[in-house]
Amino acid sequence: MSYLPDSPISATVDYHRDGVQHGFLKLPHSHDDSAWGSLMIPIAVVRNGAGPTVLLTGGNHGDEYEGITSLLKLANRLRAEDITGRVIIVPMMNHPAALNGTRTSPIDKGNLNRAFPGDPCGTLTERIADYFTRYLVPLSDVVLDIHSGGRTLDLLPFAATHRLPDQDLARRCLEGALAFGAPNTLLMSELEGGALFDTVVENQGKVFISTELRGGGTSTPESVALAERGVENVLRYAGVLAGEPHPPVPASRMLEIPDNDHYLQSEHAGLLEFGVGLGDEIRAGDLIARIYGMERTGAAPVEYRAPVSGILIGRRHPARVAMGDTFAVLAVVLKNFD
Ligand SMILES: [Zn+2]
Repeated sequence: MSYLPDSPISATVDYHRDGVQHGFLKLPHSHDDSAWGSLMIPIAVVRNGAGPTVLLTGGNHGDEYEGITSLLKLANRLRAEDITGRVIIVPMMNHPAALNGTRTSPIDKGNLNRAFPGDPCGTLTERIADYFTRYLVPLSDVVLDIHSGGRTLDLLPFAATHRLPDQDLARRCLEGALAFGAPNTLLMSELEGGALFDTVVENQGKVFISTELRGGGTSTPESVALAERGVENVLRYAGVLAGEPHPPVPASRMLEIPDNDHYLQSEHAGLLEFGVGLGDEIRAGDLIARIYGMERTGAAPVEYRAPVSGILIGRRHPARVAMGDTFAVLAVVLKNFD
């Protein structure tokens, strides 16, 4: 194994101290307005003796608000006497992106969830990724990373996991995703799995649960409530909070994105008109959307039809679409997860 230097990040919290601590991950950032300055990434640690550790993360992408909001709220209310073990809360992993209201960092254009496992000598975003990979994930038994669609996607609410070669880990990750209690639980084939936080956590043999809880660059009372209930359910699943997870009513529907054919990318630029809505059941050949060119009148729109049958679980949120944009995501309904 090659040698990696220590992370440039220092924590103002002590991960091994009992009680509630609110502090920062300090990452040196030398720039024109602050020669010896630092990024100050908020972190809260709540610990009550020996027990499991759950790492709760939001703001991996800066424009996904259910995780940020629910974790800021949790950090305000969770008391040490409520728990057994430890909860580490980072509501805004890519803090510069969250402050800027964008998916990626305005400082280095870094997309944190495409920067894993990270690099202690790399860009600021790569340095953040490296700290999670080598310092926070090893402390953790269960990691919940709360995503939403951000400004450009709207996604049916789901908790997600992956098919993994380690069957025991796959089973535990699925239990965790089901415990979250979203209306849908999804087995997901990822477009860029190798650079995700997910892969780093799974490769360390830890339970990883991610979510998508709507999007569009905003949140709703329902989507935040879903995140808050899911966070508490995961804490119960891990044994940090007492009691069993509260299952959703009706029971979570099981879905799968089996391959990349279920992500539809536009080969045209223009204006999207959807023929179907989020959550609709679609058969192969059904019209999903028309794309209108915006250069002239009198030109027929391009029709996009479903290449496979499934449920529309994701759609592009803005009506303007460019070549290469994913504008629709389909998933199939599973009877069970065999
Ligand atoms: Zn995200």
